[in-house]
Amino acid sequence: MHELSILMGMVETAEQYAREQHADRITGITLEIGEMSSVVPEYVEFLFPDVTEQTMLEGASLTIKRQPVCVACRDCGQVYEWRKEKYRCPGCGSESARIVSGRDFMIQSIEIRREDGYDGSGQDH
Ligand SMILES: [Zn+2]
Repeated sequence: MHELSILMGMVETAEQYAREQHADRITGITLEIGEMSSVVPEYVEFLFPDVTEQTMLEGASLTIKRQPVCVACRDCGQVYEWRKEKYRCPGCGSESARIVSGRDFMIQSIEIRREDGYDGSGQDH
């Protein structure tokens, strides 16, 4: 389960960001996980409470968004969403393509709270 080390890195990045913003708590985090990423969202959800314990992320809400896999045709350059069942360029019918997105794991947004009551998200919860 390499999700654990990935999550620990994520916590570090989020805490660093929060400190830069002079926040004392992180109230929510949104992660984007590519459909072709090796990170399993179910593991991330499962591990999240343990990994964030006694960090600024403790008790934060977790949102996971899936990023679709997009490929670029090697023959005509068209970018399209990749699906297992129809892996073929809609432009020229070529089956040769390279992945351009969908393998990533990233932090999409972080909601922070400052002692002075500033809500980083600008939203009500
Ligand atoms: Zn094509």
